[in-house]
Amino acid sequence: MGALQTIALAILGFSAFVFVALFGRLPFFRKTPIGFLYRTIWIYIPNGISYLDSCLFGGYILSCWNRAGNYVFYENHPLVLIFFTSLLLVGELIFIPSAWPRVSMIHRVCIPIAIGLPYIFLYFSVVCKSFITLENHDQEMKRYPYDKVIFQPGHRCTTCDFVKPARSKHCSYCKGCISRQDHHCIWLMNCVGLNNYHYFLSLLLSLSVMLTYGSFIGYSLLSQTLDKLIPRNHPVRTKKQSWTTFFNICAAVIASDTSIGGITMLMLMTAPLAFGFLVYHVYLIWAGMTTNESAKWSDWKDDVADGIAFKLVGGHKRRDSASEPAEIKSSWPVMSDQVLVFTNGEPPKKGHRIGKGSNEVLQPRDSNAEVDARFVQVKSMRELDNIYDLGFWNNLRHVFGFPVGRRSFRT
Ligand SMILES: [Zn+2]
Ligand SMILES: [Zn+2]
Repeated sequence: MGALQTIALAILGFSAFVFVALFGRLPFFRKTPIGFLYRTIWIYIPNGISYLDSCLFGGYILSCWNRAGNYVFYENHPLVLIFFTSLLLVGELIFIPSAWPRVSMIHRVCIPIAIGLPYIFLYFSVVCKSFITLENHDQEMKRYPYDKVIFQPGHRCTTCDFVKPARSKHCSYCKGCISRQDHHCIWLMNCVGLNNYHYFLSLLLSLSVMLTYGSFIGYSLLSQTLDKLIPRNHPVRTKKQSWTTFFNICAAVIASDTSIGGITMLMLMTAPLAFGFLVYHVYLIWAGMTTNESAKWSDWKDDVADGIAFKLVGGHKRRDSASEPAEIKSSWPVMSDQVLVFTNGEPPKKGHRIGKGSNEVLQPRDSNAEVDARFVQVKSMRELDNIYDLGFWNNLRHVFGFPVGRRSFRT
């Protein structure tokens, strides 16, 4: 019992750590204890260790650690992918030989499918790249319009030496600009972008299904073990018992059926992680944004909350929206016509300029200049338009590579 509790707590603690270390950076958690724990893991503790090392060992330990850390954190290495696949493989090798003789025919058909699909989607998520190269750059420039809110025209990638297409991002791990970059995934050793996002989603879905289905089979088999151990009509099972007795019974069942018990526990603990990722990405599709874009929108959310975001109103169309190339107009249903700016705190004044390639208002030198009445303060994110959001079904269609109709977007 003591050992089992320790193992359960260790797995739970590890899952919580992985959750905080991976999800803690999401803008959603920025001002929560999870965000604080994330900063503690990645900033405060390393800074503390670095300080101690420089005092005690003249920085020797840190330079060794940095070399290893640089490889682990800044190189595109396969360690996490190997760990992830090994965990899958070892779990299956322990679980299936023990479960196979005890499950019905229908499960013998379903189990290979449930196990096979994550490997297939994992393979395609890893091998499909979304690089923007000199060859496909022209085509990528026509894929999405610039919304001039989170993607400005004219920004160059100095490494790849071309103008960054809208929704792209340079990835320092993959060493290239990625089309519709979502995030760099260390599990996949690859960026999740235009060409593999649907495989990545399918991987999350198939993993969630596999873990739930596996937990269900594990639970059924453990129930059979329990029936053998303690008959159903035994007073321990017919009368209400304390939590201690309940955990003791669980421990006894797992101890007498270790392969199924151990892997079922592992599946139950890891399923929420896979589900968490899946739900988050369904939310992103609903919101019509990528992980990369959600961070940019989060900055605007802060600006709106601080009262420094302003919007041009009164039928003033963006000067350059009419000059959007015809190819983009035919490929993407919505063009941007909103002019959104942020200021130093005061409303834009007459004679202001808007920074080149940014949305920052450069106020006129004359501090007595009148307020520019064409701008109103943005009070809520609902007042802002995300031109990449075409409504949930169209966003989903787009993710899976189906065309999106011109007239079917959300208005
Ligand atoms: Zn680049
Ligand atoms: Zn990458």
